[in-house]
Amino acid sequence: MIIVLKPGSTQSDIDYISEKLHEKGLKVHISQGEERTIIGAIGDERILREAALAAYPAVEKVLPILKPFKLASRDFHKEDTRVTVGKAVIGSDDVCVIAGPCSVETREGLLEVARSVKKSGAKLLRGGAFKPRSSPYSFQGLGEEGLKYLAEARDETGLGIVTELMDPRDAELVDRYADLIQIGARNMSNFNLLKEVGKLKKPVLLKRGLSSTVKEWLMSAEYILDEGNMNVVLCERGVRTFETDTRNTLDLSSVPLVQTMSHLPIIVDPSHAVGRADLVAPMCMAAVAAGTDGLIIEVHENPEDALCDGPQSLRLDDFSSLMKSLRNLARALGREL
Ligand code: PEP
Ligand code: MN
Repeated sequence: MIIVLKPGSTQSDIDYISEKLHEKGLKVHISQGEERTIIGAIGDERILREAALAAYPAVEKVLPILKPFKLASRDFHKEDTRVTVGKAVIGSDDVCVIAGPCSVETREGLLEVARSVKKSGAKLLRGGAFKPRSSPYSFQGLGEEGLKYLAEARDETGLGIVTELMDPRDAELVDRYADLIQIGARNMSNFNLLKEVGKLKKPVLLKRGLSSTVKEWLMSAEYILDEGNMNVVLCERGVRTFETDTRNTLDLSSVPLVQTMSHLPIIVDPSHAVGRADLVAPMCMAAVAAGTDGLIIEVHENPEDALCDGPQSLRLDDFSSLMKSLRNLARALGREL
């Protein structure tokens, strides 16, 4: 249920109504928009009806949210949410580019990539220290050692760090190093993990599940929001289809679709969507044309030797030329990059 307050309502109106809702055992979330304050009340709808909220003078209207995701929906929060990560903002007019290797492999390799992508204009550095590999025999990541290299790269370049958390038991550790905590596609429906990152203050990058609908994805975001962490960025990374010449099928329609359904920013990961380096650039261009808030792109100093996802990783110089094309496209669309 959302309670829309009249324009000009005061903090004491908000406090009064919130107090009444708390008394009834309901969870209260406040969305302070430019024109209106909306109070989201989550809980048993029957109790809400009994509360006769429409009778309060400051209340303009009381509306049920019929969708299974509520705090993630545009009904609750009309304006686009902007998520600040380090010095970058995701969800603004600028296209935010995140780049880096699939996994952190060596200190020198990571620093080389970090310096280069920074020079090309990337705003954040990605790199996995805990890797969700399909085979238990594949490289699993360096763990905390990888996080330390990421922190060193941040100290040197100023780029904020994006890295994946796979296990609630590592939440405190990853939180200590990351600026944006990635929840990978395979864990989109790991609800205990979602609740855990919901309790943290750190922004979360929530990837779309391998075979998940947009609605399911937004319900997963809701788990994080419901715990009080409103800094969620969605990431489209392709879904499983019958196609085998690409790794997944990039569902670019999810970008404008999510923007109608939700206020949360959405970025695109063309690397995992297509799985081959030669298709990454055109899909980056298409994603910007579709209105994405950002891109996350795998870049490696020597893709042939990468321990993970080499075939889809861009070389440093190819990433640099791609950034030039993206910048031109963004400007033609009235945006910056
Ligand atoms: C990754 O970003 O390295 C990754 C494993 O992505 P996904 O969870 O989308 O497969
Ligand atoms: Mn990868």
